[in-house]
Amino acid sequence: MPGKIQKIVLEMRRHVGGRAAVWHEEPFKVLIATVLSQRTRDQNTRSAAGRLFSRYKTPGEIAKAPLNELETLIRSSGFYKVKAERIKKISRQLLDEFAGKVPRGRDELLTLEGVGPKTAGCVQVYGFDDYALPVDTHVHRISNRLGLVETRSPEETEPHLKEAIPRRYWKEVNLLMIRFGNLVCLPQKPRCGICSLKDVCEYYKKVVRPDL
Ligand code: SF4
Repeated sequence: MPGKIQKIVLEMRRHVGGRAAVWHEEPFKVLIATVLSQRTRDQNTRSAAGRLFSRYKTPGEIAKAPLNELETLIRSSGFYKVKAERIKKISRQLLDEFAGKVPRGRDELLTLEGVGPKTAGCVQVYGFDDYALPVDTHVHRISNRLGLVETRSPEETEPHLKEAIPRRYWKEVNLLMIRFGNLVCLPQKPRCGICSLKDVCEYYKKVVRPDL
């Protein structure tokens, strides 16, 4: 498997134009932006987060903000009523339980309202530069197609993928697979014809070209 992993990482980097540069931001902003990103496109998340943070920047400010104003600011992210309540509750929890700071540990992050393993992982990687491997739908789909894991949900994928992939690649995997999933291994119609991972891909061998 190590040779296969290295090939997968190198070829994905080649397809997406280079190593995925892991960006960093204040943990609170990463946390709130990741909540806003649930079930919407990146562009909608960026616009909602931009509007929200131009008005409210801290847990204290969001906890006190009128709910209807939060809803208006984050409307473009979709499910804005649920998300507005969620970010308000998270902000309140941070004030009450964590002295207004985003906790660094996974277990503490998972106690926050609506925060699951993917959001916790994003905060760890992009907020604290810690080793974690956030699994979203792209990471789940691609790692199953490649045969790195055989799982039925992103939650189930995460621990198996951490065993399959050396730790030094963890921080990069999320961004790399999101980009690769948008350019090559698309959700509905993967562009296997242009993909240089065909020879290590279980989906290609079993579904696309079982005749080979
Ligand atoms: S060969 Fe096809 S299914 Fe496999 S990783 Fe490439 S694009 Fe995805």
